[in-house]
Amino acid sequence: MQTSPATTRLAPSPTGDLHLGHARTFLLTAALARSQGWRILLRLEDLDRHRVVAGASERTVEMLAWLGIDWDAPPTRQRDDLRPFEDAMRRLADAGWIFACTLSRREIREAASAPHGHEGEPRFDPRLRPPPGDSWRFARGDQSHRLRVEPGEVAFVDQLLGARRFDPSAECGDFAVWTREGVPSYQLAVVVDDARQGVTDVVRGDDLLASTARQILLQRALGLSPPRWWHLPLVADAAGARLAKRHGSTSLESLRATGATAERISGLVAWWCRWIPERAPLDPRTLRELVTPESLRALVAREQDPAARPRVDEETLRWLRDA
Ligand code: GLU
Repeated sequence: MQTSPATTRLAPSPTGDLHLGHARTFLLTAALARSQGWRILLRLEDLDRHRVVAGASERTVEMLAWLGIDWDAPPTRQRDDLRPFEDAMRRLADAGWIFACTLSRREIREAASAPHGHEGEPRFDPRLRPPPGDSWRFARGDQSHRLRVEPGEVAFVDQLLGARRFDPSAECGDFAVWTREGVPSYQLAVVVDDARQGVTDVVRGDDLLASTARQILLQRALGLSPPRWWHLPLVADAAGARLAKRHGSTSLESLRATGATAERISGLVAWWCRWIPERAPLDPRTLRELVTPESLRALVAREQDPAARPRVDEETLRWLRDA
């Protein structure tokens, strides 16, 4: 029986400045949460030391508040306490799920039967696993560890996209759960934190759909029940490519500095979603009345066609600045 309220989380990585694509995903997530009576948590995913940018956590929190988003507990930072992740690693090791891996990326690539797996990461072939023994224990520290992935598809139902299936054993093979830098990988960190923070509803960009199957494997190995999944399409740039954090002109900070208001961003998002007939400033709280599971499903169905996904071009930026 569920005793605590439904909960979602905003999980930005402080690896650069938030842009209009983040604004859409986070505004829709927060509006859905409020319309459904869910709690909202804010979690800064700051484990990747090489990608985290100094000051980006603070700026991210500030920009989310500026957008009119609120949350129900002080923001957490994953790096502040690694113990829950280490505990999970010990549980995985006790059940024979993980092994230490000292192979280089090149060695893994050379052994891969497919030229490369998902997202440029070489697929880790099961024949590269170490023999039974010490390597199948968790040595806290800077040795990378991988999860044993058995052949077979992972099926799940996305609340917006419907039934989906992926085959992690074919896409990525045994994937990293602990990195050489001595911190959990994204996949492990997100699974452990979603569980311990009581997250019941994960709303995020659909670039993470394939990761969902990997996270389900980890949840099964750890005996955790999966949350509900809601994957939203991403916004593109003028050329139709995914917006990146390096696209300075679409960063929320540079937009704010050049005259954009949070009301204009909320209005743009509602217009992109075709919930208002014309592009016009909108109180961020009004978004809550427009966002329902059904209105999001209609949006997601339409935007399965990449040509229907909104694009951020110069004209959009000028309108936001009222220039
Ligand atoms: N921190 C991840 C990102 O910024 C999102 C994680 C998630 O929502 O599961 O891409």
